[in-house]
Formats: sequence, C-alpha cells, structure tokens
Amino acid sequence: MPAQIGVTGLAVMGANLARNFARNGYTVALHNRSVAKTDALLAAHGDEGDFIRTETLAELVENLETPRRVLIMVKAGGPVDSVIDSLVPLLDEGDIIIDAGNSNFVDTRRREADLAEKGLHFVGVGVSGGEEGALLGPSIMPGGSKESYAALGPMLEKISAHVDGEPCCAWVSTDGAGHFVKMVHNGIEYADMQVIGEAYNLLRTGAGLEPAAQAKIFEEWNKGELASFLIEITAEVLGHVDAKTGKPLVDVIVDSAGQKGTGRWTVQSGLDLGSPISAIAESVFARGLSSQRDQRAIGQEVLQGHEVAVDLGENFVEDVRQALFASKLVSYAQGLDMLTSAGKEYNWELKLDEIASLWRAGCIIRAELLKDITKAYAADEKPANLLFAPAFAEAIGAAVPAWRRVIATAVQLGVPVPVFSSSLAYYDGLRSKRLPAALTQGLRDLFGAHTYSRIDVEGSFHTQWSGDKTEIEAEDTH
Ligand code: NAP
Repeated sequence: MPAQIGVTGLAVMGANLARNFARNGYTVALHNRSVAKTDALLAAHGDEGDFIRTETLAELVENLETPRRVLIMVKAGGPVDSVIDSLVPLLDEGDIIIDAGNSNFVDTRRREADLAEKGLHFVGVGVSGGEEGALLGPSIMPGGSKESYAALGPMLEKISAHVDGEPCCAWVSTDGAGHFVKMVHNGIEYADMQVIGEAYNLLRTGAGLEPAAQAKIFEEWNKGELASFLIEITAEVLGHVDAKTGKPLVDVIVDSAGQKGTGRWTVQSGLDLGSPISAIAESVFARGLSSQRDQRAIGQEVLQGHEVAVDLGENFVEDVRQALFASKLVSYAQGLDMLTSAGKEYNWELKLDEIASLWRAGCIIRAELLKDITKAYAADEKPANLLFAPAFAEAIGAAVPAWRRVIATAVQLGVPVPVFSSSLAYYDGLRSKRLPAALTQGLRDLFGAHTYSRIDVEGSFHTQWSGDKTEIEAEDTH
C-alpha cells in the first residue's frame, strides 16, 4: 500500500504530526536527514499506525500515492529551500509539497511562485499548538492553491483540533496566506501574554498579591469572559512551587523573555502595511526591553521613579481583570485589522469569521472569545473593526472606566503597562473626533511642502510659509 502522505523532518513537530496522521488512519511514509530520528520514532511509536520507513528522499517519494503529498517539517529558512531543491527532481506535475514549519510568508510566496512554474503545488501551512497540538490536534492554516486543498484539505482537517465537530482547519487563501495568518496569530499571542504579564505585575507590585493567591484569581478569571488556554496556564505557572528552593517558580525564573521571531515579523509586516498594530508592537518591544539586562541593572541605580502611593480602591482586582480584557480585545482587533490590510495588499480573500474559527481550539490563543469574534464576522454586516461589532463595542465600553483607573494607578505606581496603555490610546484614537494629525500635516507642509487636505474643500493645498503665507492649490504629495 503506498502512503497517502510523506513527512520529512522528524524532530518533535514533524514526528508528532506524522503520528497524528497515522493515528487518524493514514499510511505515513517517514524520512529524516539523519535516519536515527526515523528509527527512534518507529521504535517508540511504530505501533500507533501504518508507517513506511525510508532512508532517502527518493525512497520517500517512491512510496507515495499520486498526487504525492510531501510534508516538510525541518528548521525554517535555508533548510526548507534545500529540501525543496532535493525534492523537485523527484516529483511529477501536480504533486504537492507542504511546508508546515514556521516559515516567513515572504519565503512562502517566493517558493510557491517558483514551484508553480514547474507544475508543482506548494502549500505553506501555518500550524499552531506546539508539540502537544501537533500530536493531538493543532489549529491548521493552509495557504496555496485551491486545487491543492482539494487533495490535501480533508487530511489536514481530519488531524486538526475540532470544536463541536467542526475542524479548526480551512483553506485561508492563496500562496503565503496560511503562513501570514499564522504569523499574525503569533503576534496576537505575544500581546495576549504581555497583557497577562502586566495584570500579574500590577497585582503583585500594586496589590501585593503573591503568586499562589494570583493563581486562584486567574483560575477564577478562566471561568468568565477571559476563559482561554493562556489564562489557564497562567494559573498553573503561578501556582507552581520550585522544588529546589521552595519559592514560587516564577520568582526564580530570569525576567528576560525570549523570542523566535514571528512577533518581530508581525511588527515588520505591520509597518510595511501601515497597519496600526501598536499593542502587538509594544509586546515585542517589552520582550526586547526585558532582555536588555545590563542596561536595566544600571537603570535601577540611576533613574528616579517618584512613585506616588495611591489608594487602589476596593475593586482593584476586578478593575485589573477588565483592563486585561479590554486590552486583549484591542490586540485581537489590531491583528484582524492587519489581516484586512494584508488581504488588500496581497489579493487574498481572507474570511475573518473563518480565520477566527480556526483559532477556537488547538492553538495557543484559543479562547472562548473567539466564538464571539467568529459570530461578529459571520454577520451580514461585517464590522470595519472588531471593536465596532455591537457586542464588542458594548463589552469594551463597559470596561473603559476600570481600564482608565488601572492605567492611571500603574502610572502613579511606576509599574510599566505598555500594552494596557497603548491599547487604550488606540481605542481613544479610534473614537477621537479630531486627532493632532492635522498639526502634523501643517508641520510637514511647512518644512517639506508635503501639502494637506482641507476639511471644507476638495484638493491638496500648500501654504507659502516662507513667502506671504497665502495658500495655493498644489499637487498631492501627502
Ligand atoms: P527544528 O529543530 O526546527 O528542526 C530540526 C529538523 O530539521 C530535524 O529533523 C533536522 O534533521 C532537520 N533539518 C535541519 N536542517 C536540515 C537540512 N539542511 N536538511 C534537511 N533537514 C534538516 O524542528 P522542530 O522543533 O520540530 O520544528 C520544525 C518546524 O516547526 C520549524 O519551522 C519550527 O519553527 C516549527 N515549530 C512550530 C511549532 C508550533 O507550535 N507550530 C512549535 C515548534 C516548532 P536532522 O535530524 O538530520 O538534524
């Protein structure tokens, strides 16, 4: 029996995806550059389904039914290109190469275009859920041609996470759209984790609540509108005691957050698209600042705080919960808005209701909230921004008083809340009747003759600042 899919790259992610396919009844051909990983997988889990052991890519390809489906799960970047180069001469027109790693969508667009010229399908697939998700059912965001989805989609849907019987996998759009959507998912994940961190920090520094007490609070929060995987695991981490010291584990972990790059890519791409993803950007920068440990050590010595003692009020914990919820909504709204901008830029027909539904289970940002986001974008009248959907406008509006109180308190206490505060600034920016951008335009016209539009007349105008200051109609150089 030929295999329905071949997997090359059997480190933890590839091995778990291969096992997931096999456990779902597919015959899976296995390959890894060093054969030891293939044998280790077979020794530990060979009885979980039908596997075919291969030692070379040629042997892998020989063992596949047509059109062949070869899933690459190797280190992102150069290794993906090198595996593709080795595979191409072995494949026939109509075969499908799948890259399920964390590739940059720009690379995916390039690879898809190159391989389309050779008559091969290239499908960049965003996969979220970590090791466990890959094995038990991840959230899957495939791009590539619609035709390739017909041959591949049902298999991906079967191994994905499910909610009420529906798969968390659907074709998102052409070429690099799958990896783009996964990248934005990760950007939202950065912001989601940062707002949780800001809430924790305020409760610790402001209210003096120890991690164990906070674990109970997060557990409670996980029963309401914040219910999500990240809130659930926050309770777990905060409740964990370090076996070596008997201290809360969070207190013995170095406070310097790492990153593998998808958050940075999201921000770079947001800048390219002119998309205001300030909450996501601040969360990436917050990790950057946390990593500047040498500078922080000096800052602690030389920079003054002038903190002010404030009465936290009786409902501080609930206020923080609401500020966290509101800021989280903003980060989702910004990420989804960025998808809208990307759809226009790259000609992708991205359906935001479907994308939100892919994130309901299996992935790291899975949250109850995503069910309501799915509903908001499935409505006949699509909101121009998530926050304008009636249910969300109401929910965030109700949180505003607490949100403002918490940020004011944080500022007085000297507790940094970059995403809480930038999210509120975004919210206030969206609802402002007049923004100071009018002044910015005036300044730009003065020093660079960049021109401005007027609120009362069509056209572009320039004031002759160095002359008699009369206004002339000008060519648009905004
Ligand atoms: P990894 O550590 O990123 O890569 C190791 C694998 O790549 C090994 O199988 C290795 O083969 C192979 N490899 C490296 N260079 C190669 C080359 N030049 N030619 C052929 N094979 C090469 O593995 P991973 O952690 O399982 O991650 C795989 C992909 O999934 C990455 O893109 C990663 O970013 C992504 N990922 C996703 C998630 C998620 O939640 N979705 C989580 C983690 C990782 P050898 O055994 O021979 O060295």
